[in-house]
Amino acid sequence: MTAAGAGGTDTAAEWRPRPLTVPSEGLPTSVVVYEVGPRDGLQAEPDLIPTPLKAELCRRLYSAGVRDLEVTSFVPPSWIPQLEDAADVVAAIEPPPGARAVALVTNSRGLDRAREAGLSEVSVVVSATEAFAHANLNASRQAALDRGASLTAEAVASGLRVRGYVSMSFGDPWEGAVDGGVVAESAAALHGAGCSTVALGDTIGVATPGQVEAVLDRVAVAGVPRAALALHLHDTYGQALANVLAALRVGVREFDASIGGLGRCPYARGATGNLATEDLVWMLDGLGIETGLDLGALARTTRWFSQQRGIEAPSRVSRALAAADAASDQSPLEAPPT
Ligand code: MG
Repeated sequence: MTAAGAGGTDTAAEWRPRPLTVPSEGLPTSVVVYEVGPRDGLQAEPDLIPTPLKAELCRRLYSAGVRDLEVTSFVPPSWIPQLEDAADVVAAIEPPPGARAVALVTNSRGLDRAREAGLSEVSVVVSATEAFAHANLNASRQAALDRGASLTAEAVASGLRVRGYVSMSFGDPWEGAVDGGVVAESAAALHGAGCSTVALGDTIGVATPGQVEAVLDRVAVAGVPRAALALHLHDTYGQALANVLAALRVGVREFDASIGGLGRCPYARGATGNLATEDLVWMLDGLGIETGLDLGALARTTRWFSQQRGIEAPSRVSRALAAADAASDQSPLEAPPT
C-alpha cells in the first residue's frame, strides 16, 4: 500500500509526515515565532522543576532554531516559587549569536535582578481588565498599567529592550467581554513608554478571527503600528490557528507559542495550553512562511521534555508525529545519525 495514495510512489516506510507547502497570496514571507515555553509554559507547573532541566529545555529550543526565547521570569519568589531559580537558569544558558533571551519582570527589583543576570531584554505585563489585574497583578488595572509603563521607561533608559503584554485582551473569565478601547489604550501606553513589541494576550483562548481583526483595528487607530504588535494566543477552544491566520492577513508578523503547548494560566480557571509551537510551525511551513524553526527538532524537544516530566504535551502535531513514529519501522522523530 502506498502512503501517497493510488499511483503514488512513496511507501509507508519512506513517507514522513510533513505539511505540503502551498503559499497563500497576501501573506508575509517570514514571521517571528516568539517562544514562551520555558517561562509561560513552566510557571504553572505545580512542582519545582530542576534548574538543569529548565536550562536544557532552553538549549534544545535554541538548537531547534529558536532565536526569540522567553527563558524565565524574575518575579517575587513568594508569588511563583517555581521561578525562584531565574538567575541560575539564565547563567546556565548560552544563546547563540543573534538570539534573544528575555525574562519577564514585575517590578524594579525584578528588573535589577534581570540586569544583574546579564540580560538585555525584559518583558512586562499589564491587564485589559480590572478583575485580572487584581487577581494576577495585585493592583487596579490603571495602577498596573502605570507600573508597567514606568518599568518599561526605566528599563529602556538603562539600555534594555522591552516587550509588553496586555493580558485578557479578548475575554476575561470574571468579566466576560473586554472593551477593545481599553485594550487599545493599554497597548498604546506600553508602546509609548518604549516597548518595542506589544503582545495582545488571549489569556483564556476565547477569541475568534473576526474579533481579532476588530481588536487589531482598534489598536491601530490608537497609533500602535502593526510592526510593533504580536499575538499571544491560547488554544482553549481550538481557535488559535484560525486567529493567527486572521492576524497574518492584516499584517501581524509575530506570534507567541509554547513548545508542546505547555502552560496554562494559574489565575484563569479553565484556561488550557498556549498555542503549541509545532502546531503553529506546521501551518506556517505549509504556507511557505519562513520561521527558521526545525519542525522535527521541535517535536523531538517536546518528546524529550514529556518523557522527562512524565506528561503528555497537548500539541496535536507532536502527538500525530509520535503516532506516525510508533506505526513506522523508521522513526521520523529520531535525529539523523551524525
Ligand atoms: Mg500564555
